[in-house]
Amino acid sequence: MTARDASLAPIEEKVQRAERLTRDDALTLFHSADLLTIGRLADVANRRRNGDRVFFAANQHINPTNVCVLRNTCVFCSFARMPKEDGAYTRSLEDVFAEADAAHDNPTREFHIVGGLHPKLRLSYYTDMFRGLKQRHPGVHIKALTAVEVAHLARIEGFSTREVLIAMREAGVTSLPGGGAEVFSPAARAAIADRKLSGKEWLAVHREAHRLGIPSNCTMLYGHVETMEDRVDHLLALRSLQDETGGFLTYIPLAYHPDHNELGEALGRTGTATTGFDDLKNIAVGRLVLDNIRHVKTHWPMVTPFISQVALTFGCDDLEGTVVFERVYHEAGAGTPMWLSYDQIIELIRGAGKEPVERDSLYQTVRTFEGYVPASAPGRPQGPAPVGQLFQLEHRRSAVARKRALAASVVDGAE
Ligand code: SF4
Repeated sequence: MTARDASLAPIEEKVQRAERLTRDDALTLFHSADLLTIGRLADVANRRRNGDRVFFAANQHINPTNVCVLRNTCVFCSFARMPKEDGAYTRSLEDVFAEADAAHDNPTREFHIVGGLHPKLRLSYYTDMFRGLKQRHPGVHIKALTAVEVAHLARIEGFSTREVLIAMREAGVTSLPGGGAEVFSPAARAAIADRKLSGKEWLAVHREAHRLGIPSNCTMLYGHVETMEDRVDHLLALRSLQDETGGFLTYIPLAYHPDHNELGEALGRTGTATTGFDDLKNIAVGRLVLDNIRHVKTHWPMVTPFISQVALTFGCDDLEGTVVFERVYHEAGAGTPMWLSYDQIIELIRGAGKEPVERDSLYQTVRTFEGYVPASAPGRPQGPAPVGQLFQLEHRRSAVARKRALAASVVDGAE
């Protein structure tokens, strides 16, 4: 099959030879409108590694607090609150354990735990949480705390990030999530998250984790003010660390959502900020450039289950799991479901002509589904939908907490 965009022909030859793509190749891919060729090449690259298998985890997202010291400077974030702002919450450990009890009626294998940078919560709050969760749910892996949270805890405790990571590991953490990476470009970071851990520091925390035997995920937030060069350099930085450590399990491109945050207001955007075209292209280019990361995951709460299903033939071999209650992206206006049932995940994967494989956090196979017949009832066959005070969402009344004019040059840089 011939590429409609002739500039992709040399890249096609490299993909067929399983040859590493260059920075220029990656830029060509991002600038090309020949999405079907890019998707087809990514599918070749994915099938070489993963065949027709598509992995998912029966997971539950838990966000212990939305109070964050960077609430006024991460202008793309709709989740965080100042301590006294409407909608601010901080869970007691009992509340976290109560929330996690949804796992009792469900086949949960992973808790995904991330939150704000609370000025007063100490490391012991988190290590007690992890120990308590392991005691109550010994079969569930804990994937917890972004590199940004790890660095924040190190700072308020006066520890090194290595000491924090060791304490987390000893308390039962199996792996780190990939959040907080955003884009590493200093210019883009200065515009959307100017007080956050730098790209180099984010990579250093993951390097440290990998050296300690803690694998991690990696992400890129796209669709805000970043340039195509920023995207490519971000992917190359991830690839370079993976060459060094081999510790990344999966890459997850994350679509920016503009509702209820200062950046969305400054850019004059509401609803979604990315297109299905761009969502699929980011999956496919990620698969092609990150030749040393085995898995690429599509995050259905951000891009819809329908785009995620199509992404499974655009180089993607992992589908975000059951989630139970998704707070972070729904705060930013995601119109997707709060959770999907175990059987809905299986049906989405099978509907794309793929073979579902349930995995744990470390990509060990938990279950395959030959001959499996999903329950005919829609909804949540493994347990009730979560209800009650712990599962409420209250959007910010106004995104603007601080008068902050984004530089015109930054706005001009948006796609
Ligand atoms: S993106 Fe993370 S660090 Fe930044 S304000 Fe939101 S919760 Fe805090």
